[in-house]
Amino acid sequence: MKCPICKKVTKRVNVQPEIYICKQCKHSFSFIPKIKQEEYNEKYFTIKHKNWFSNPDYSLFNKFYKEIRRKKKENISLLDVGCGNGNFLRFLKNRDKNINLTGIDFYENKDNNISYLKGNFLDRKIKQKFDVITCLAVLEHTNKPKEFIKKIHSLLKPKGLLLIMSINNKNILFSTIRLFKQTFMKQRYSKLYTHHLQHYSNFSLKKLLERDFKVLFQQNRNCPLKSIDVKVENFLIRKLYLLSIWKILFFMRLFRSGLQQIIICKKR
Ligand SMILES: [Zn+2]
Repeated sequence: MKCPICKKVTKRVNVQPEIYICKQCKHSFSFIPKIKQEEYNEKYFTIKHKNWFSNPDYSLFNKFYKEIRRKKKENISLLDVGCGNGNFLRFLKNRDKNINLTGIDFYENKDNNISYLKGNFLDRKIKQKFDVITCLAVLEHTNKPKEFIKKIHSLLKPKGLLLIMSINNKNILFSTIRLFKQTFMKQRYSKLYTHHLQHYSNFSLKKLLERDFKVLFQQNRNCPLKSIDVKVENFLIRKLYLLSIWKILFFMRLFRSGLQQIIICKKR
């Protein structure tokens, strides 16, 4: 199996699910057969990841909005790739009347003053070019990250801005899960590495972009605790579980680690 970032030789580090690490850039990724991959249907957005989609990360939205508004232009065109239920686009619509908003995802959306495209980003023909493209919690779900970035690059105007939020695989919580994957963390490990296909480190995400983009900013961060989807029925156990995650997140902040990372770059 070749590395999807640098095309170099990889080493398999887990059999079930199949996980590989690149010998060159240390990028990690899962190989999940198409039929076993998560389906991005209605249920995915409304039931499976209910907490995620009903508790938007407004601190991240604000941060990205400030970056977008650094552009001196009055009217900005923006495409949100993998816009989910349109949370970020609606936030922008309410903040700023001068951003022309477009979103694409598998989910059916409808809002005044936002154009939604339904379908697979890689397959869909898009004629318009944009000043800004955003991509939040999406890049970890594709098995073709290079093609994804190439397409984004082709849809951006010269010096266009790209804002990404993805996973940071080198955080304390995931490392703990990896360490105990043979024991009590077995199920969590399997969930974590089948839900996401690409497991970026700060280095591998930067490497993916560097050729076509000038990286301006990169930082690790955490999402709101409320947005984490925990599949535990028992109320008390769920509370205890969330409490321990909260403690780990707090600890992470001290070390500038985080479950996620953001990266902001400009088209070369
Ligand atoms: Zn690699």
